[in-house]
Amino acid sequence: MIGKVYLVGAGPGAPDLITLRGAELLKRAGIVFYDALVHPETLAFAPQAKLVAVGKRCSRISTDQRFINRNLVEAAAKYAVVVRLKGGDPMLFGRAQEEIEALAAAGVPCEVVPGVTSALAASAEIGVSLTRRGMSRSVIFATPRVGEGEDTSDWAPGVANADTSVLYMAAGQAAQIALVLEQHGMSPATPVLIVENASLPNARQIGTTLRGLRERAGLGVDGPALLLLGQVYRERAHALIAAALLENASADERLQKRALPR
Ligand code: SAH
Repeated sequence: MIGKVYLVGAGPGAPDLITLRGAELLKRAGIVFYDALVHPETLAFAPQAKLVAVGKRCSRISTDQRFINRNLVEAAAKYAVVVRLKGGDPMLFGRAQEEIEALAAAGVPCEVVPGVTSALAASAEIGVSLTRRGMSRSVIFATPRVGEGEDTSDWAPGVANADTSVLYMAAGQAAQIALVLEQHGMSPATPVLIVENASLPNARQIGTTLRGLRERAGLGVDGPALLLLGQVYRERAHALIAAALLENASADERLQKRALPR
């Protein structure tokens, strides 16, 4: 038997942000290979299926891509419907091409089902449009993260030249990224938002500037996060910076009061 492998986008996190087509395929799947960022409730669409975690969170233990490719090919010999479930959209920073090529080489039919990528979920979360008349007509989705042996410098010019930029897999090295972007001519005053856990109940946004990012020791985010850069974020970033300053000031005041002798 030769089954078919579906590369399905699970969406950004919230289980109801998968497409109808994706959910239907999960209901029919014999086996599901899923990424670390897929929500447990999304897997509940496939109670009948064998579930295999092939999680890849950067810097944590990950499943070797060749191993995943081999598993997909082998599963297609056993199951009519094989689902490879990926966070967000499979075609964006999801290593879909390697899987598509491995399946083609083995003669296994394959189809891709799109999903809501996290950049779009983050924009919905914060209610700020990626594009705006008279301000932003170009958007870049980029990542500074590279595999071993790859050139590390070529991501920055595109970001420096776009009106709005969304950086994936970037929160861990934000200060370094800000430095590189300033070296590529971006203004240190460029507004920046960090959006963590977009579409989930624990979503969070932090406002800063490129300079602020460079000077910050760390972002203090644990969940998946995006860096959003550009003038469309100006008002929001300023409001968040002002709110954080006020909060710090009142925390300082409380500390000082406590330190006063009775
Ligand atoms: N294919 C995925 C991206 C995979 S790369 C997509 O289309 O969204 C993984 C990166 O995506 C994370 O490091 C983070 O930058 C981003 N990401 C994924 N889910 C996210 C979420 N709910 N909120 C914010 N960023 C998210």
